[in-house]
Amino acid sequence: MTLVMKFGGTSVGSAQAMRETADLILQAKTAWGNVVVIASAMGSKPVKVTDLLLRGAHSAAAGDKETYKLVAGELRQIHFAVIDELLQPEGERQRVLAENEAFLQRFEDLCQAVLVLGELTPRALDAISGMGEQMSVRILAAYLRQIGHRAEAIDATDLIVTDHNFQAAMPLLPRTKSKTKVRIRPLLDQGVVPVITGFIGATEQGVTTTLGRGGSDYSAAILGQALDAKEVWIWTDVDGVMTTDPRLVPTARSIPTLTYREVSELAYYGAKVLHPKTIRPCIENGIPLRIKNTFNPEHPGTVIVADDKNGNGGMKAVSAISHLSLVTVEGKGMMGVPGIAARTFGAVAHEEVSVLLISQASSEQSISFATPDAFAEKVLLALEAEFATELQRQDIDRIWAQHDVAIVTAVGAGMRGTPGIAGRIFTALGSTDVNIIAIAQGSSECSISMVVGGEDTETAVKQIHALI
Ligand code: ASP
Repeated sequence: MTLVMKFGGTSVGSAQAMRETADLILQAKTAWGNVVVIASAMGSKPVKVTDLLLRGAHSAAAGDKETYKLVAGELRQIHFAVIDELLQPEGERQRVLAENEAFLQRFEDLCQAVLVLGELTPRALDAISGMGEQMSVRILAAYLRQIGHRAEAIDATDLIVTDHNFQAAMPLLPRTKSKTKVRIRPLLDQGVVPVITGFIGATEQGVTTTLGRGGSDYSAAILGQALDAKEVWIWTDVDGVMTTDPRLVPTARSIPTLTYREVSELAYYGAKVLHPKTIRPCIENGIPLRIKNTFNPEHPGTVIVADDKNGNGGMKAVSAISHLSLVTVEGKGMMGVPGIAARTFGAVAHEEVSVLLISQASSEQSISFATPDAFAEKVLLALEAEFATELQRQDIDRIWAQHDVAIVTAVGAGMRGTPGIAGRIFTALGSTDVNIIAIAQGSSECSISMVVGGEDTETAVKQIHALI
């Protein structure tokens, strides 16, 4: 049985973190037989190696001759300190130091080239920003060897084949699968733990690409699929996906199971969960993806599965997005007139503003939609221009925005076909005088969203959470 485990920046962010990560890897190896590790670049808050690499590259592109050198110095310090603390001098320390130094040298060379050219292409950015992972896996694999286990650092450029869309490359799954199997299966058969870079891939021609910021989760799901893993585990610092933001509601608890659609709704409505795109390779292939806590490894965390069941338990989570505006186009002359909605959203799309929620009563006298506060003014101007004639004729009476509102969303696939959930939510909000400004429920019935005033957000979330 193969288990794929992904460790984020914090889990490899210090010598102590690497030791703990190694313990988790070895425990899993005993339990599962085959373990494949995906690791991010080192990233102890507040310093993330990927951010530093990007800062160096951007400063060089802006003509700054010094910053990238300072950054290289900082990166040296971060990596070398961990290597010195973790690896014994009589062992692989010198070799790993030299390997890391070679990447840092290359970082400086690439930044120097960017400086001379005065141009930073997406391709160069990918070559530069992926080096953090290339350095961290070499340290982790060497440490596993030092404590007596077979392990090999592998660059995902040898495994994940992508298109040429630098910065947000898409994996080409059939090619990735065959390359990964050829390279990784023999290692597993020999009892070796592959320690693979997250975040990066390469085009068919071997040019390094990245899968987008935070892309190591995606790497894990892609490799899990390629290796027909039994499960993929993403290690974080919480007990899985929580019923709500624990900073808002201290009684928030971990959710044992979520479906793909529930994760998508939660991600869309502001919860800090995995990006739905990143987990699709697993979910579509029936591979459960588990989110676990490195600080509480015994806890089962949250497992994400396909949408095959309606889910149970009704509501599972509540999330909120704040700092929004509710824009309303209203007028008695809109009734029965085709095209108003199309023109409204056409004008918004033209401004490249995304709409988070739409509500239109069937009387068609108004359309309301939510958009980030920061874009409200430009949306209003665009709509006024679009409907200048209608405003003049008074077919449209008013285009206006209510600022500082929030969308509070209750999510759960089990809400589908379960009567009474909306009623309970509204009663709970009414009992604490929370005014609901607008409501939207998609016909998937997987979520109900309510727009409330910014000042009511916390109360609304608490009230709904008490119903879960
Ligand atoms: N290191 C990359 C980033 O910071 C990828 C990852 O950590 O998932 O975006």
